[in-house]
Amino acid sequence: MTVRTRFAPSPTGFLHLGGARTALYSWAYARHHGGQFILRIEDTDLERSTPEAVQAILDGMKWLGLEHDEGPFYQMKRMDRYREVIGQMLQEGTAYYCYCTPEELNAMRERQKAAGESPRYDGTWRPEPGKTLPPAPEGVNPVVRFRNPAEGDVTWNDRVKGEITISNSQLDDLIIARSDGTPTYNFCVVVDDWDMGITHVIRGDDHVNNTPRQINILKALKAPVPEYAHLPMILGDDGEKLSKRHGAVSVMEYPAAGYLPEAMLNYLARLGWSHGDDEIFSMKQFCEWFDFDHLSSSAAQFNTEKLNWLNNHYIREADNARLAALVRPQLEKMGVKLESGPALEDVIALMKDRVNTLNELANASLMFYREPDPDPELLKQHLTEAARTALKAYAANVETIEWQREALSAMMKALLKENRMKMPQVAMPLRLLLTGQLHTPSIDAVVCLFGRETVLSRLKGL
Ligand code: GLU
Repeated sequence: MTVRTRFAPSPTGFLHLGGARTALYSWAYARHHGGQFILRIEDTDLERSTPEAVQAILDGMKWLGLEHDEGPFYQMKRMDRYREVIGQMLQEGTAYYCYCTPEELNAMRERQKAAGESPRYDGTWRPEPGKTLPPAPEGVNPVVRFRNPAEGDVTWNDRVKGEITISNSQLDDLIIARSDGTPTYNFCVVVDDWDMGITHVIRGDDHVNNTPRQINILKALKAPVPEYAHLPMILGDDGEKLSKRHGAVSVMEYPAAGYLPEAMLNYLARLGWSHGDDEIFSMKQFCEWFDFDHLSSSAAQFNTEKLNWLNNHYIREADNARLAALVRPQLEKMGVKLESGPALEDVIALMKDRVNTLNELANASLMFYREPDPDPELLKQHLTEAARTALKAYAANVETIEWQREALSAMMKALLKENRMKMPQVAMPLRLLLTGQLHTPSIDAVVCLFGRETVLSRLKGL
C-alpha cells in the first residue's frame, strides 16, 4: 500500500500554527513511507473563503518548504463529482430526499427539547421497509440525507487517541446536499478522501466528531476507510487556547518577525511529538523518525522562548551570505547605507551568535553603518583623562599596525600593561567612541571590522 496523506485547510483566514503542524505531520508521514502528500483547499464555504486566504496558505506552505506531490485540488471545482456521488447514493438507497421545511425541523427540535431529548432528525422521510412515505409536497426543494445505519457502532483505532467507539444511535441522518443541491462539508471530505486515495487522515481533534459520520458514509460507498490520527490542539504558554493574545498565530508573521523556516519546522515537529531527548534535528532526520507512536495525546503548549532558542541555533548555523540576503532588505528599509560600513556578511558573522531573530540581527548590525552618537553622560563617565591618554596612544598604533585581529589584541594588551589599566577602562570608552554603545562583541573584533580609516576618524580630536 502506498501511503497517501493530505492537508485540507479551509481558506477562511491565514495559515495558523496548528494548521502548519498538521501539514508538517501529514507531509512527514508521507515522506517517511515514500508516499504522496496531497494539498486540498476546502473552499466550499463561500461566505468565509477568500482568495487571499488561499494565497496565505500557499505562501505558508512554500515558506516552510512543505511541498505537495498532488494538488492543490479545490473543492469548488469538484461539484459535478459530488453531485454524481449523491445521485448514485440516492439510486442505491443509501441516501434519500427529505422534504421537511425549516419550520418543521424547528418544531421537531422544540418538541424534543421539551421532552428532554437531545435534538435530532426524527426520520420522517427516511425510507424503511413496510413504511409508507407521505407524498412529496409541491414546491419544496428537498435536502438529501445520508441513511445512517440505525444499529451498531462505529469504531476506529485513532492513532493518537486510541480506540474510539460511537453508537450509531447517536448519529442522525446527516444532510449531504442542501435544498439548492450544494453538497455539505462532511460529504465533500468523504468523496475527496475516497477519490484521492487517502490512506491516513491526520488532522486537528476538532474533527473527531465528524469522523464516525465520515466513516459511515465511506462504508456506504464501499470505499476503503483510511486510518485517522487526530492531533490535540496547541495551547498558549498560559495553558489557554492559542490565540492572537499570545502573539503571532499566523505562520507568515514569523518570517516577518525574523524567524527561519527550519527553526519553525523543528519547533512544530517537537510540539506534540518526540524522539527521546532530541530537540534539534533536520527535516530529513524528522522524516526518518516520524511515526504515530510518539505523538502526544495531550495538548501541546506553545513556548516562544523555545522557538527563540531554536531560531538562535539555526541563525548561528546558517550561511552568512543567506542571512545577509535576508537582513539586507530590512536594513535598506530603515534607510541604512550599507556602502558606508563593512561588508554585511562580515558584520553578520560577528553578530549572529547573540541574536534570536533576524530582526534583532538587523538592529545589532546598525552600529556598523551609523555615525556613533554616544550619550554625553556615559562619555563623561568612561572617557577619563587616563583613558584619553591611552586611546591617543592606541590611535597612534592604529596608523601603522598590521590590520589583523590578533595584532590588534596584542597591541591593546601591551598598551594596558604600559598604562597600568584594566581592559574595561580603555575598551568601554573605545566602544562608545566607535559605536555609541557600551555593549558590543569583543572590542578587537569590532575594531578590526570597522577598518583602519573609520577607527582613526572616530578617535581623531581626542
Ligand atoms: N478543512 C478542515 C479544516 O480546515 C480540515 C478537514 C480535514 O482535515 O478533514 O479544519
